[in-house]
Amino acid sequence: RYDVIIAGAGHAGSAVAGELRAAGFTGTILLVGDEPRLPYQRPPLSKGWLTASPDPEALELRPAAFYAQERIDLLLGSRAEKVEPAANLLRLADGTELTWRHLVLATGAGPRVPRLPGVGLDGVHVLRDMDDATLLKAALESGQRLVVIGGGWVGLEVAASARARGVRVTVLEARPRLLARTAGPTVAACLERHHLSRGVDIRTGAQAERLFAGPDGRVGAVRLADGSCLDCDAVLLAVGAVPRDALARAAGLVCRDGVLVDAQGATDAPGVYAVGDVTVRPLAGESFSGRLESIQSAHEQARRTAAAICGRPQRPLETPWFWSEQYELRIQIAGLPLEAGTSVLRGEPDGPGFAVFHLRGDRLRAVEAVSAPREFALGRKLIGEGARVLASALGDQTRPLREAVL
Ligand code: FAD
Repeated sequence: RYDVIIAGAGHAGSAVAGELRAAGFTGTILLVGDEPRLPYQRPPLSKGWLTASPDPEALELRPAAFYAQERIDLLLGSRAEKVEPAANLLRLADGTELTWRHLVLATGAGPRVPRLPGVGLDGVHVLRDMDDATLLKAALESGQRLVVIGGGWVGLEVAASARARGVRVTVLEARPRLLARTAGPTVAACLERHHLSRGVDIRTGAQAERLFAGPDGRVGAVRLADGSCLDCDAVLLAVGAVPRDALARAAGLVCRDGVLVDAQGATDAPGVYAVGDVTVRPLAGESFSGRLESIQSAHEQARRTAAAICGRPQRPLETPWFWSEQYELRIQIAGLPLEAGTSVLRGEPDGPGFAVFHLRGDRLRAVEAVSAPREFALGRKLIGEGARVLASALGDQTRPLREAVL
């Protein structure tokens, strides 16, 4: 019997184990992961890792010695298959049954695979883990033609990485613009311009309808809803992620496009917590819950769940934030940029850096910064403080940002 079993050894799961020890937890901890490797960083998989050639160990979040030192037992290459909350039981795919005092579900999200004829062909990729990235990297040879289906963060990051490797890239986005779910129109348009200037063929309002095999049996073409056809050597499906909440659903936990948790990560079953991409969680400053896919959210939830298990006090919820890297641009977003009322631009979208501030009334709700780290840092702090700001000063680059605070 373990005091804590964590199912899922990614960013959130491994962080829970580390945070428990950092909080002085002395009980037994088991981290179960279905990937056959130590927990590793996922963000580089669509960025630098595709262009450079570091060995896979370079991405490890912690060395093996850390887990031994901290007495965190690891069971890697092992899938959690069934949870019985009433019996405090976790069954693994090989039939092993384990019991726990606290269970943490940290199973993340899997790739969303659109129902298109031909998605099962060789040469059609998804990108969630190291195995996916290794396959994709091998396909990114100079002169090859890649079609990316989906103009979200992962699709655009891969497009930039693929261009750096001399690959010819087309991005298909079904909506009228890029990043429609996660960024405002100014940032999306700026990124579109950068991609176009680097030779990426961006097609918005473009719906992929069918994938065809080439003469070698691998994917060779994509047909769009308007009847046009694009020849290609590889396709990346980058249309989002789905929470891996099957364990939780089968255990009868309340799920709603993810496992529903409170601010401590607690589910509706006593002793069962969930953290990371698999959860629908309360959001700072909002009356609703949502699913976030970000390192910040995974780490924040890990800290909160560790505090809950240790009976320690909780801090206020953090402002969510996220980053992306494409070409020489660093994009940083704090808060939720889409639901706020007014937006104010500081700097020029064609200049070296700019920020878009989103306000509800005179409260700052979100900031999107493109190569503008100071604006991001101060914006994030002000959002967290619930600061009131003067829109005209925010937008005036001749005035220090601080002067915008009322
Ligand atoms: P994961 O890190 O996905 O870990 C879940 C783990 O659980 C996986 O190892 C999975 O195999 C395992 N698992 C699933 N089911 C079981 C089971 N039944 N039994 C055992 N193990 C199981 N976020 C940012 O903030 N910035 C970025 O720039 C960024 N870039 C990204 C780029 C890519 C390509 C991807 C895929 C994600 C990116 N993210 C980024 C998102 C970020 O990586 C995730 O939010 C974060 O990894 C979530 O952590 P998690 O532990 O919930 O899930």
